[in-house]
Amino acid sequence: MSTLVIKDLHVSIDDKEILKGLNLTINTNEVHAIMGPNGTGKSTLASAIMGHPKYEVTQGTIEIDGENVLEMEVDERAKAGLFLAMQYPSEISGVTNADFIRSAINARREEGNEISLMKFIRELDKTMDFLEMDQDMAQRYLNEGFSGGEKKRNEILQLMMIKPTFAILDEIDSGLDIDALKVVAKGINEMRGEGFGCIAITHYQRLLNYITPDHVHVMMQGKVVKSGGPELAQRLEAEGYDWIKQELGIED
Ligand code: ADP
Ligand code: MG
Ligand code: MG
Repeated sequence: MSTLVIKDLHVSIDDKEILKGLNLTINTNEVHAIMGPNGTGKSTLASAIMGHPKYEVTQGTIEIDGENVLEMEVDERAKAGLFLAMQYPSEISGVTNADFIRSAINARREEGNEISLMKFIRELDKTMDFLEMDQDMAQRYLNEGFSGGEKKRNEILQLMMIKPTFAILDEIDSGLDIDALKVVAKGINEMRGEGFGCIAITHYQRLLNYITPDHVHVMMQGKVVKSGGPELAQRLEAEGYDWIKQELGIED
Protein backbone atom coordinates (compact mmCIF):
# COMPACT_ATOMS: atom_id res chain seq x y z
CA MET A 1 0.00 0.00 0.00
CA SER A 2 1.10 3.57 -0.74
CA THR A 3 -0.08 6.76 0.90
CA LEU A 4 -0.13 10.33 -0.36
CA VAL A 5 -0.25 12.76 2.55
CA ILE A 6 -0.87 16.48 2.15
CA LYS A 7 -0.53 18.53 5.33
CA ASP A 8 -1.28 22.18 5.96
CA LEU A 9 -0.65 23.06 2.32
CA HIS A 10 -0.44 26.75 1.47
CA VAL A 11 -0.01 27.71 -2.18
CA SER A 12 0.28 31.14 -3.78
CA ILE A 13 0.05 32.31 -7.37
CA ASP A 14 1.69 35.66 -8.06
CA ASP A 15 1.82 36.29 -4.29
CA LYS A 16 -1.92 35.69 -3.91
CA GLU A 17 -2.63 32.87 -1.47
CA ILE A 18 -5.02 30.33 -3.04
CA LEU A 19 -4.60 27.25 -0.84
CA LYS A 20 -4.76 28.11 2.83
CA GLY A 21 -3.90 25.07 4.89
CA LEU A 22 -5.26 22.07 3.03
CA ASN A 23 -5.11 18.57 4.52
CA LEU A 24 -5.78 15.37 2.61
CA THR A 25 -4.62 11.75 2.91
CA ILE A 26 -5.15 9.19 0.17
CA ASN A 27 -4.24 5.51 0.14
CA THR A 28 -3.98 3.24 -2.83
CA ASN A 29 -7.16 1.24 -3.38
CA GLU A 30 -9.19 4.40 -2.66
CA VAL A 31 -11.03 6.87 -4.87
CA HIS A 32 -11.54 10.33 -3.41
CA ALA A 33 -13.85 12.87 -4.99
CA ILE A 34 -13.14 16.56 -4.45
CA MET A 35 -16.00 18.94 -5.02
CA GLY A 36 -16.38 22.64 -4.39
CA PRO A 37 -17.46 25.93 -5.93
CA ASN A 38 -15.55 27.47 -8.84
CA GLY A 39 -12.39 29.35 -7.98
CA THR A 40 -11.89 27.58 -4.67
CA GLY A 41 -8.49 26.16 -5.59
CA LYS A 42 -9.19 22.62 -6.84
CA SER A 43 -7.08 22.93 -9.98
CA THR A 44 -4.45 24.79 -7.97
CA LEU A 45 -4.19 21.75 -5.69
CA ALA A 46 -3.71 19.48 -8.72
CA SER A 47 -1.01 21.74 -10.20
CA ALA A 48 0.80 22.10 -6.88
CA ILE A 49 0.94 18.33 -6.40
CA MET A 50 2.46 17.96 -9.88
CA GLY A 51 4.95 20.79 -9.32
CA HIS A 52 3.77 23.43 -11.79
CA PRO A 53 6.33 26.25 -11.45
CA LYS A 54 3.72 29.01 -11.25
CA TYR A 55 2.31 27.59 -8.03
CA GLU A 56 4.47 28.45 -5.05
CA VAL A 57 4.18 26.27 -1.99
CA THR A 58 4.77 28.62 0.95
CA GLN A 59 3.95 26.20 3.77
CA GLY A 60 3.07 22.59 4.43
CA THR A 61 4.14 19.20 3.11
CA ILE A 62 3.29 16.65 0.41
CA GLU A 63 4.69 13.16 0.90
CA ILE A 64 4.36 9.74 -0.73
CA ASP A 65 5.24 7.00 1.73
CA GLY A 66 7.34 9.50 3.64
CA GLU A 67 9.21 10.79 0.57
CA ASN A 68 9.16 14.56 0.20
CA VAL A 69 7.35 15.31 -3.08
CA LEU A 70 8.00 19.05 -2.84
CA GLU A 71 11.72 18.47 -3.32
CA MET A 72 11.14 16.55 -6.55
CA GLU A 73 11.27 17.99 -10.07
CA VAL A 74 8.21 17.47 -12.25
CA ASP A 75 9.69 14.42 -14.00
CA GLU A 76 10.69 12.93 -10.65
CA ARG A 77 7.10 13.29 -9.44
CA ALA A 78 5.89 11.32 -12.45
CA LYS A 79 8.56 8.74 -11.73
CA ALA A 80 7.38 8.57 -8.13
CA GLY A 81 4.00 7.51 -9.51
CA LEU A 82 2.00 10.75 -9.77
CA PHE A 83 -0.19 11.47 -12.78
CA LEU A 84 -2.36 14.48 -13.60
CA ALA A 85 -5.18 14.56 -16.12
CA MET A 86 -5.52 18.29 -16.62
CA GLN A 87 -8.78 20.20 -16.79
CA TYR A 88 -7.59 21.60 -20.13
CA PRO A 89 -5.14 19.11 -21.74
CA SER A 90 -2.62 20.93 -23.92
CA GLU A 91 -1.82 20.23 -27.56
CA ILE A 92 1.70 19.15 -28.45
CA SER A 93 2.38 19.46 -32.14
CA GLY A 94 4.97 17.12 -33.65
CA VAL A 95 4.65 14.47 -30.93
CA THR A 96 2.32 11.58 -31.67
CA ASN A 97 0.07 10.29 -28.99
CA ALA A 98 1.72 6.85 -29.12
CA ASP A 99 5.25 8.28 -28.82
CA PHE A 100 4.21 10.47 -25.92
CA ILE A 101 2.73 7.53 -24.01
CA ARG A 102 5.71 5.26 -24.73
CA SER A 103 8.17 7.90 -23.50
CA ALA A 104 6.11 8.40 -20.36
CA ILE A 105 6.09 4.65 -19.66
CA ASN A 106 9.83 4.37 -20.25
CA ALA A 107 10.59 7.42 -18.11
CA ARG A 108 9.31 5.44 -15.14
CA ARG A 109 11.48 2.39 -15.95
CA GLU A 110 15.14 1.76 -15.37
CA GLU A 111 17.48 2.18 -18.32
CA GLY A 112 17.79 -1.11 -20.22
CA ASN A 113 14.34 -2.18 -19.01
CA GLU A 114 12.25 -0.18 -21.50
CA ILE A 115 8.97 -1.63 -22.74
CA SER A 116 9.43 -3.48 -26.03
CA LEU A 117 7.79 -1.94 -29.07
CA MET A 118 5.77 -5.13 -29.67
CA LYS A 119 4.46 -5.27 -26.14
CA PHE A 120 3.72 -1.54 -26.18
CA ILE A 121 1.73 -1.75 -29.41
CA ARG A 122 -0.19 -4.78 -28.18
CA GLU A 123 -1.15 -3.02 -24.94
CA LEU A 124 -1.99 0.21 -26.71
CA ASP A 125 -4.28 -1.59 -29.18
CA LYS A 126 -6.01 -3.48 -26.42
CA THR A 127 -6.51 -0.39 -24.27
CA MET A 128 -7.79 1.71 -27.18
CA ASP A 129 -10.30 -1.03 -27.94
CA PHE A 130 -11.36 -1.08 -24.32
CA LEU A 131 -11.89 2.70 -24.44
CA GLU A 132 -13.67 2.46 -27.80
CA MET A 133 -11.15 4.77 -29.45
CA ASP A 134 -10.30 4.97 -33.14
CA GLN A 135 -6.91 3.34 -33.77
CA ASP A 136 -5.79 6.34 -35.81
CA MET A 137 -5.81 8.45 -32.63
CA ALA A 138 -2.51 6.76 -31.74
CA GLN A 139 -0.64 8.36 -34.63
CA ARG A 140 -2.17 11.81 -34.34
CA TYR A 141 -0.27 14.63 -32.67
CA LEU A 142 -1.07 14.84 -28.99
CA ASN A 143 -4.45 16.49 -28.46
CA GLU A 144 -4.13 18.42 -31.73
CA GLY A 145 -7.60 18.83 -33.16
CA PHE A 146 -9.02 16.36 -30.62
CA SER A 147 -12.57 17.18 -29.58
CA GLY A 148 -13.22 17.88 -25.90
CA GLY A 149 -14.48 14.33 -25.43
CA GLU A 150 -11.56 12.79 -27.31
CA LYS A 151 -9.08 14.68 -25.12
CA LYS A 152 -10.67 13.35 -21.95
CA ARG A 153 -10.83 9.80 -23.29
CA ASN A 154 -7.20 10.16 -24.30
CA GLU A 155 -6.25 11.19 -20.76
CA ILE A 156 -7.74 7.90 -19.58
CA LEU A 157 -5.77 6.04 -22.27
CA GLN A 158 -2.59 7.62 -20.89
CA LEU A 159 -3.65 6.75 -17.36
CA MET A 160 -4.28 3.10 -18.20
CA MET A 161 -1.02 2.77 -20.13
CA ILE A 162 1.25 4.64 -17.68
CA LYS A 163 -0.33 2.98 -14.62
CA PRO A 164 0.55 5.61 -12.03
CA THR A 165 0.23 4.98 -8.29
CA PHE A 166 -1.80 8.14 -7.74
CA ALA A 167 -3.87 9.92 -10.36
CA ILE A 168 -5.45 13.35 -10.08
CA LEU A 169 -8.28 13.77 -12.57
CA ASP A 170 -9.33 17.40 -12.89
CA GLU A 171 -12.89 17.63 -14.21
CA ILE A 172 -12.39 14.57 -16.39
CA ASP A 173 -16.18 14.54 -16.83
CA SER A 174 -16.63 18.08 -18.11
CA GLY A 175 -17.89 18.33 -21.65
CA LEU A 176 -18.56 14.60 -22.02
CA ASP A 177 -21.73 13.15 -23.44
CA ILE A 178 -23.19 10.21 -21.57
CA ASP A 179 -21.53 7.52 -23.72
CA ALA A 180 -18.08 9.10 -23.34
CA LEU A 181 -18.69 9.55 -19.62
CA LYS A 182 -19.43 5.84 -19.27
CA VAL A 183 -16.25 4.93 -21.14
CA VAL A 184 -14.14 7.26 -18.99
CA ALA A 185 -15.69 5.80 -15.84
CA LYS A 186 -15.09 2.26 -17.13
CA GLY A 187 -11.39 3.08 -17.54
CA ILE A 188 -11.07 4.52 -14.04
CA ASN A 189 -12.92 1.58 -12.52
CA GLU A 190 -10.61 -0.79 -14.38
CA MET A 191 -7.63 0.94 -12.71
CA ARG A 192 -9.08 0.65 -9.21
CA GLY A 193 -7.19 -1.74 -7.01
CA GLU A 194 -4.32 -2.24 -4.64
CA GLY A 195 -1.70 -0.35 -6.60
CA PHE A 196 -3.81 2.66 -7.49
CA GLY A 197 -5.34 5.64 -5.71
CA CYS A 198 -7.29 8.45 -7.30
CA ILE A 199 -8.45 12.00 -6.68
CA ALA A 200 -11.35 12.89 -8.96
CA ILE A 201 -12.16 16.59 -8.99
CA THR A 202 -15.71 17.07 -10.21
CA HIS A 203 -18.69 19.38 -10.05
CA TYR A 204 -21.24 16.71 -10.69
CA GLN A 205 -22.77 13.68 -9.10
CA ARG A 206 -23.22 12.18 -12.57
CA LEU A 207 -19.59 11.00 -12.73
CA LEU A 208 -19.96 9.56 -9.24
CA ASN A 209 -22.99 7.56 -10.35
CA TYR A 210 -20.52 5.48 -12.36
CA ILE A 211 -17.49 5.71 -10.07
CA THR A 212 -18.60 5.31 -6.49
CA PRO A 213 -16.04 7.23 -4.44
CA ASP A 214 -14.78 5.89 -1.13
CA HIS A 215 -14.48 9.42 0.24
CA VAL A 216 -15.91 12.79 -0.77
CA HIS A 217 -14.31 16.10 0.22
CA VAL A 218 -15.63 19.60 -0.13
CA MET A 219 -13.16 22.39 -0.78
CA MET A 220 -13.97 26.00 -0.02
CA GLN A 221 -11.71 29.01 0.12
CA GLY A 222 -8.56 26.98 -0.28
CA LYS A 223 -9.19 24.23 2.26
CA VAL A 224 -10.98 20.93 2.67
CA VAL A 225 -13.88 22.00 4.87
CA LYS A 226 -15.93 18.82 4.98
CA SER A 227 -15.39 15.12 4.28
CA GLY A 228 -17.76 12.21 4.09
CA GLY A 229 -18.88 9.29 1.98
CA PRO A 230 -20.81 9.13 -1.31
CA GLU A 231 -23.92 10.49 0.42
CA LEU A 232 -22.17 13.85 0.80
CA ALA A 233 -21.92 14.23 -2.98
CA GLN A 234 -25.59 13.34 -3.32
CA ARG A 235 -26.57 15.99 -0.81
CA LEU A 236 -24.44 18.61 -2.63
CA GLU A 237 -26.15 17.71 -5.90
CA ALA A 238 -29.57 18.13 -4.30
CA GLU A 239 -28.94 21.16 -2.10
CA GLY A 240 -25.83 22.98 -3.35
CA TYR A 241 -23.21 24.43 -1.00
CA ASP A 242 -25.20 26.91 1.10
CA TRP A 243 -25.88 24.48 3.93
CA ILE A 244 -22.16 23.84 4.37
CA LYS A 245 -21.43 27.56 4.40
CA GLN A 246 -24.10 28.03 7.06
CA GLU A 247 -22.90 25.06 9.08
CA LEU A 248 -19.34 26.36 9.08
CA GLY A 249 -20.15 30.08 9.24
CA ILE A 250 -18.37 30.78 5.93
CA GLU A 251 -19.20 34.10 4.30
CA ASP A 252 -19.15 34.46 0.49
P1 ADP B 1 -11.06 25.78 -9.17
O1 ADP B 1 -10.32 24.73 -9.91
O2 ADP B 1 -11.54 25.34 -7.82
O3 ADP B 1 -12.18 26.37 -9.97
P2 ADP B 1 -8.60 27.26 -9.44
O4 ADP B 1 -7.58 26.51 -8.67
O5 ADP B 1 -8.60 27.14 -10.92
O6 ADP B 1 -10.04 26.95 -8.84
O7 ADP B 1 -8.45 28.80 -9.11
C1 ADP B 1 -8.37 29.30 -7.77
C2 ADP B 1 -8.04 30.77 -7.79
O8 ADP B 1 -6.72 30.96 -8.29
C3 ADP B 1 -8.95 31.60 -8.69
O9 ADP B 1 -9.18 32.83 -8.05
C4 ADP B 1 -8.13 31.76 -9.94
O10 ADP B 1 -8.46 32.97 -10.60
C5 ADP B 1 -6.71 31.81 -9.41
N1 ADP B 1 -5.76 31.24 -10.37
C6 ADP B 1 -5.69 29.94 -10.76
N2 ADP B 1 -4.69 29.75 -11.64
C7 ADP B 1 -4.12 30.96 -11.85
C8 ADP B 1 -3.04 31.43 -12.65
N3 ADP B 1 -2.33 30.60 -13.43
N4 ADP B 1 -2.73 32.75 -12.57
C9 ADP B 1 -3.44 33.58 -11.77
N5 ADP B 1 -4.46 33.21 -11.01
C10 ADP B 1 -4.82 31.92 -11.02
MG1 MG C 1 -13.11 25.65 -12.18
MG1 MG D 1 -10.52 23.89 -11.79
